[in-house]
Amino acid sequence: GPKERPDFLAQLNAQQKQAVTHTDGPLLIVAGAGSGKTRVLTYRIAYLLQQYKAAPEQILALTFTNKAAREMKERIKDLIGDKAGKLWMGTFHSIFSKILRFEAEKIGFGSDFTIYDTSDSQTVVKQILQELNFDTKEIKPKTIHNKISDSKNQLITADTFQEKFISSTLDDITARVYSIYNKRLKQSNAMDFDDLLVKPIELFQKHPDVLEKYQDRFKYILIDEYQDTNHAQYKVTKMLADKYQNICVVGDDAQSIYSFRGADISNILNFKEDYEEATQVPLEQNYRSTKAILQCADSIIKRNTKQLDKTLWTEQGYGERITLLENFDERDEANRVASHIQNLKMRHGYKNNDFAILYRTNYQSRVFEESLRRKDLTYQLVGGLSFYQRKEIKDVLAYLTLLVNPHDETNLLRIINEPSRGIGNKSIQDLLGQARDEGRSIWSIIQNVESLDVYKPAKARVREFVDMINRLRNNLENGETLTDTTKAVLEQSGYMKALVEENSQESMMRRDNIIELQNAISYYERGAKNASLSSFLQEISLITDQDKFDEDKPAITLMTVHASKGLEFPVVFIVGLEENLFPVGARQNFDVDIEEERRLFYVAITRAEERLYFSHCRSRFKFGEETRQARSRFLEEVDAGVVQTETGATITQKKDRFSDDGNSSGSDYTVDYDWKESRTKKTHRSPSATIHYDYEDGEDPFQVGVRVEHKKFGPGKIISRSGSGTDAKVVVFFKNRGQKKLMLRAAPLQVI
Ligand code: ATP
Ligand code: MG
Repeated sequence: GPKERPDFLAQLNAQQKQAVTHTDGPLLIVAGAGSGKTRVLTYRIAYLLQQYKAAPEQILALTFTNKAAREMKERIKDLIGDKAGKLWMGTFHSIFSKILRFEAEKIGFGSDFTIYDTSDSQTVVKQILQELNFDTKEIKPKTIHNKISDSKNQLITADTFQEKFISSTLDDITARVYSIYNKRLKQSNAMDFDDLLVKPIELFQKHPDVLEKYQDRFKYILIDEYQDTNHAQYKVTKMLADKYQNICVVGDDAQSIYSFRGADISNILNFKEDYEEATQVPLEQNYRSTKAILQCADSIIKRNTKQLDKTLWTEQGYGERITLLENFDERDEANRVASHIQNLKMRHGYKNNDFAILYRTNYQSRVFEESLRRKDLTYQLVGGLSFYQRKEIKDVLAYLTLLVNPHDETNLLRIINEPSRGIGNKSIQDLLGQARDEGRSIWSIIQNVESLDVYKPAKARVREFVDMINRLRNNLENGETLTDTTKAVLEQSGYMKALVEENSQESMMRRDNIIELQNAISYYERGAKNASLSSFLQEISLITDQDKFDEDKPAITLMTVHASKGLEFPVVFIVGLEENLFPVGARQNFDVDIEEERRLFYVAITRAEERLYFSHCRSRFKFGEETRQARSRFLEEVDAGVVQTETGATITQKKDRFSDDGNSSGSDYTVDYDWKESRTKKTHRSPSATIHYDYEDGEDPFQVGVRVEHKKFGPGKIISRSGSGTDAKVVVFFKNRGQKKLMLRAAPLQVI
């Protein structure tokens, strides 16, 4: 029937069809945003299943987020029915942690290993630095951990690092910490995020039979967003694909935005050298955006020298020009964006989930949240401090982790005296010292705490702690549910009691969060087929920012540009387009790669389907002070023909960028912004007549007879006009202030 053999190929264009039906051998697709790369991967899997090229469990598809994998699965189900369930789909980290669970023993780990997130890893590094007597204020654990992480992703081992990569004192320290760090993790039966990619390679190299098993299993391998794979990811997939060479990678070099995390664009550029038989199929039709948006995106990306040329066209109409919003400060910006959203909903029938507000850095979200809340607009924040990063949640998870992996030192130290149970820091250091001396885990030595050299009253407390954990472990092993186990942990540890006793607003919030965690655990237990505490813990340690994004939720999306990769929205606001923000400013140990920032801007632009807004502020609060902000260089680069002001006026770019501070010297009227006033006032209007852009003659709305409002002078009417271009001036009669002559390009005027 049609349900079993739907002719889904009809939903593809000729190039896409070619990519989908070319099933065997290596296949490379490098194509621009919105050209259907992800769609091709999805349909390709459906096609492989439909043609009986492979069973679902023989297909490995690697996506950028777990959510993308889930969606792909759903879509494949729609196309060919229920077979999709057994596909191996997910992020690199989740797929390879699954494989590592099966094979852990072969590389000296237990299958219940803990996955350390970045903050756990930094805690371990900090501990080691302290033991080596370094001042962790001077030598930052974060810096050292970053160096270790970079090395791991480039497959540089601790030994190699020691031999070849020392060019500074910091490297020297890194080398020492790196090898201890690895030993510590192993002793804790823990792997960090990078290990999840590196250990499989080690496994496959040491055990060719295991490699062969997985090579045989995964007859077809597909990878989305290939431009953002790092060396370890490249290597491990190359090993797996080596036998059948049925590997299909899709990506866009113009969207490579993770090089700071080791992503290596050459993986995609060298694909044809690695796989000589590779076929390359171009995709050139864009189905996502209007012509104006594509033209805008193109004008940006062509500034990059290191980019491949690609064709992208669309059958869609020109659409709306991109609207530029100029603001006083971040509050003004947030209010203005919120007003535009209200307007668009009212006038064009958009729903909340049609909108995305994209920013460069997470901290920008706060003011938008406030503005949206005040206007009763529902939003969802993607990213930021995740629920699972909260202290109380990490504490409870530490207890649960110990129940499956008691040798995990980081988690044990986290809660041995949390809530406070009279085990002081000195006692803990004594315990640690003895564990180090004996080369054993702290958990194994405290089994016989009575025989250790520790402050006597603390011994009794440690004994109680050990007994509690053992009791809880026993119950869990004897089949107690996860829900009951969690409840028991909260009661017996005294954690909940301590929060209730504290009875502050803060502690009540923490309690609510813990209840939320209990809900999540119960929910998981009801839903999962083989629910186990260790797989629950694994699952949540691999949640990515974007996984929390729910496109069906009737909410406006707030997220960083990084998190927006692969997504699309009818209306997009790109905010904070200012120098040292977007492009981001240089920071310690961080060189700004302008081409990468530009690619990031390209990614942001190409998320938009119908309408796009650029926004920037003239000042911003930084460290409690109002700081002047220069407009982003990207606004100068963008094709001016596709941009308009809020009032619909055309713009042309000015040469002397950043120099203009609103005081147009040498003119007959000086605009005097009262910056203090604009800071203290909650709401104010900012100039809609652009300050940095010049109106083209006759095209701006400030014609004789038009009613206007001035930021400071209030409402008025234009009574005459003189000069042209940058020199255009208007005489306005203000209701309360009388007649004034104003420089059009500098005056904070708005049509009313
Ligand atoms: P990005 O580079 O941003 O990841 P992409 O190349 O993966 O984009 P998709 O997300 O697969 O592009 O497709 C963009 C949009 O175009 C989606 O909404 C998709 O459903 C739609 N689309 C792709 N191909 C077709 C087609 N042949 N017919 C109709 N719609 C299509
Ligand atoms: Mg995609």
